[in-house]
Amino acid sequence: MSVFDHPEFDHHEAIHFFDEPESGLRAIIAVHSTALGPGAGGCRRWTYANDGDAITDVLRLSRGMTYKNAVAGLPFGGGKAVILAGDKAAKSPALFRAFGRAVDSLGGAYVTAEDVGINVEDMRIAHEETPYVSGLPQSGSSAGGDPSPWTAYGVFLGIEAAARARLGAESLKGLRVAIQGVGNVGLNLCEHLVKAGAQVVVADVNRENLKKAAQIDGVTQVSPRDILFAEVDILAPCALGNILNAESISKISAKVIAGAANNQLSTEQDGRRLTERGILYAPDYVINAGGVISVAHEFLGQSSEQQVKTEVDRIPQRLSDIFRESAETGRPTNLIADELARRIVAEAAGRTA
Ligand code: NAD
Repeated sequence: MSVFDHPEFDHHEAIHFFDEPESGLRAIIAVHSTALGPGAGGCRRWTYANDGDAITDVLRLSRGMTYKNAVAGLPFGGGKAVILAGDKAAKSPALFRAFGRAVDSLGGAYVTAEDVGINVEDMRIAHEETPYVSGLPQSGSSAGGDPSPWTAYGVFLGIEAAARARLGAESLKGLRVAIQGVGNVGLNLCEHLVKAGAQVVVADVNRENLKKAAQIDGVTQVSPRDILFAEVDILAPCALGNILNAESISKISAKVIAGAANNQLSTEQDGRRLTERGILYAPDYVINAGGVISVAHEFLGQSSEQQVKTEVDRIPQRLSDIFRESAETGRPTNLIADELARRIVAEAAGRTA
């Protein structure tokens, strides 16, 4: 398998592989860029079909974190970890302690936190072995803990901005929104949307999570097969990435796509496909930065929840600027966001983008 020629390699600074038979830990930590600061990004635990898929995932995710942290104005670069789930790697304290030691061995080049398949308790255990962990339980009004409510809040504000830009809607009242995946972020987003008067339809492959969403007044369900193509105004992908491709885009009814999932576009060209169909796409790493803003403030210390809120409240303006530029130039929103991110990183590294 090629690594340096991998289509997602994109000059990663480092890729580290960990294999610890005693705990069953098999993990990859990718550090894309430390130009703006330590590579910060969550840890995902997932069952991959093969190692190649895990490498592709971690590379795409860590570059996404470079871009996300840059556009959010955070003093962090981009990195990401994946733990390969499997029969021999059941979740255990030993597994997360081994992961903590792996993170520690990088000496601060990578700072970890929760992502899909990882909870606050897992990170607390990893923290026993390394200081380079965020997303830990906090006391009082200090910033920190589970980042997903902040991600959901930022996505909600981003949906409002996108509805204004594409649908001319001053509020979400009466608008139809489809949420794919009602896990940590999707469920929280669902609550915000219902409170704002939106009509929400959800789908999930996990029955327990679906049950929680069904308890929210007025929320309806469709099968996971149909959710992307539901007759709605807004689609909010909050499950996994790689869902927007030539085939799926041709069948989407929504006029706005704005959700939390990382790497929603299968390829860069899919952004253009969306533009050509008149679908306004909120670049994933711009709209879903609420969680990393919380995690970053926690890691740097001495921040209040109010300071995190002030930063997350800036997300809709960033999106509105991208939407305006896209409307004026006809260029896809994902390209405008990528260029902005690359400019910020290049400036920090003292080179041109
Ligand atoms: P989660 O694991 O809690 O929730 C994901 C949900 O999606 C689960 O309920 C899962 O069953 C469901 N799902 C998976 N495949 C599905 C499918 N095909 N159809 C319908 N549902 C499906 O994860 P999360 O923390 O809520 O994160 C959701 C997404 O947002 C991920 O892509 C993550 O990388 C991204 N994200 C999360 C955060 C955060 O703060 N948690 C921050 C930024 C980005």
